[in-house]
Amino acid sequence: MLQAAREGIELGLTKYTPSEGTLALRTAVAAKFERENGLRYDPVDQVMVSTGGKQVLYNGFMAVLEPGDEVIMMAPYWVSYPAQVELAGGVSVTVQTEPGDGFLPTVEAIEGAITPRTKVILINSPSNPTGAVYPPALVRAIAELAASRDIWLFSDDLYEHMVYEGEFLSGASIAPDKALLIHGASKGYALTGWRIGFGAGPSALIKAMGRLQTQVTSNANSLAQHAALAALTQVDETLAFQAMTRTAYRERRDVLVAGLNRLGLHTPTPQGAFYVMADLRNIDPDETTAALRLLEEAHVGVVPGTDFRAPGQARFSYATSMENIQEALRRIERLLA
Ligand code: PLP
Repeated sequence: MLQAAREGIELGLTKYTPSEGTLALRTAVAAKFERENGLRYDPVDQVMVSTGGKQVLYNGFMAVLEPGDEVIMMAPYWVSYPAQVELAGGVSVTVQTEPGDGFLPTVEAIEGAITPRTKVILINSPSNPTGAVYPPALVRAIAELAASRDIWLFSDDLYEHMVYEGEFLSGASIAPDKALLIHGASKGYALTGWRIGFGAGPSALIKAMGRLQTQVTSNANSLAQHAALAALTQVDETLAFQAMTRTAYRERRDVLVAGLNRLGLHTPTPQGAFYVMADLRNIDPDETTAALRLLEEAHVGVVPGTDFRAPGQARFSYATSMENIQEALRRIERLLA
């Protein structure tokens, strides 16, 4: 990938690309979805490239939401979801999930949240911030529920390649004609700063999203597109890299989860992504106060659950070295003592 980025400079890739991304990259994205997810998208009009998965998602909300339309999402959620829905004039409706259930929703709870204004059900598995991986049967049931009510399913698959137990199934694979698949190079290809996202869905939706993007940002960075193309087409190297990172993350997760539970900061074992939601009430009943104490007294940075809608909890990230994780656990232990 780094070589491809350098090569992009030598090749003089200084010009605009098509707003929806180079055809070479869209073709490689479509090939990835077919190879890994059994999904067939036409690269010309069912796939687009944006400035991060974040822009894919925002384009999607802007394309489908009318003022007051509702989007069902599971809490704890990634903080950008409700903010983007609000920016697009929509209303977030949350289905709360609990640590005792491994942060998995029930189909009944989602069904109970549907109203005549529901336009989108949004799922994110593996989840940021909980690390929950939805079992395929649950993904299928949610997608079938959405399709049966003519509701869009937005499937945020950014963490697909970080599954340690269980099986990944894209929500978009059940009823692809009524789904937006949100993906990108940030997590599974470790290119967060290069800002490449992929979106796939029915052509009318992708066309509407493309019309918006062309007026807002035009194409994603041309050099980063060239590098992402290498990541998607050098299949064996990428698979080896993803397997290596999975092994490292699983080891770090195991150490962090065991350590937090031993210290009474309880957390279920997440099966994916690189986050742990842990209960901080052993430190303070208010999660913001607890997180501040961790920061100021133990110099350990966590994100309090307030903005994720996770009262009493905070998100720990294990996208850091094993030494840092072990040192953080020692410092928390000293704080509690
Ligand atoms: N979705 C989730 C759940 C995320 O956590 C993130 C990034 O943190 C994104 C989407 C967007 O990622 P990016 O815009 O870097 O592709």
